[in-house]
Amino acid sequence: MKFLTTASSDQKLRIANYLKSGMSKIIVLMGAPGAGKGTQARLLQERLNLPQISTGDIFRSLKNAQTPLAQEVREVMAAGQLVSDDLAIRLVRERTACNDCRNGYILDGFPRTPAQAATLEKLASEQGKRIIAILIDVPYELLAKRMTGRRNCPICGEIYNVYFKPPKNDNYCDLHPDTQLTHRADDNADTVQARLATYYEQTLPLLQYYRTANLLRTVDGTRAPEVIYQDIEGIIRDQK
Ligand SMILES: [Zn+2]
Repeated sequence: MKFLTTASSDQKLRIANYLKSGMSKIIVLMGAPGAGKGTQARLLQERLNLPQISTGDIFRSLKNAQTPLAQEVREVMAAGQLVSDDLAIRLVRERTACNDCRNGYILDGFPRTPAQAATLEKLASEQGKRIIAILIDVPYELLAKRMTGRRNCPICGEIYNVYFKPPKNDNYCDLHPDTQLTHRADDNADTVQARLATYYEQTLPLLQYYRTANLLRTVDGTRAPEVIYQDIEGIIRDQK
């Protein structure tokens, strides 16, 4: 998906408006697979200069890191044990102590449970930051169509969707009329249904946690990415 290049003066203005709210934020972006979290995280990074801190990336970077914490995690993983909540929050703390996180950051992959969310609140108060959980809400049927309808051209990589962006000729690429579109195995109906069911089951307790804590904001994820972004930026800017 392509977006207009944002001028740097526009970025400066956006950042200035964001900082005017006075408190830097920890943004917990939530949403099902196919809800468009990745797109929104990228836009926030481009426009507000908020880094996306992904626990997956942290784990990958640990392979070569020489800190005592990295060594500890390597030993846990080598022993085939799960990384505890305590270790996970220490990793997040170490990474978000870096200068690029001073104005706030977006978390990806953490927290996953209410217990982890509680440890994140402690970290937020240590860092003088405010947590905002934002749910990009897309109804199940639409998510399922976005995923099961996806088709790819194996030559040019163009992505189609039989429901929302069908090719001109049934199952053939518009640019390569002799090439049949492909359908990834994990986009079939059963797999998609299973993935979504797992997501709902795992995420519900966390959603309830943030709802109860009055930290959850919901945006309508059925609209265009740019419109969703405007909502999200407004929420982040206006939360004092
Ligand atoms: Zn093609």
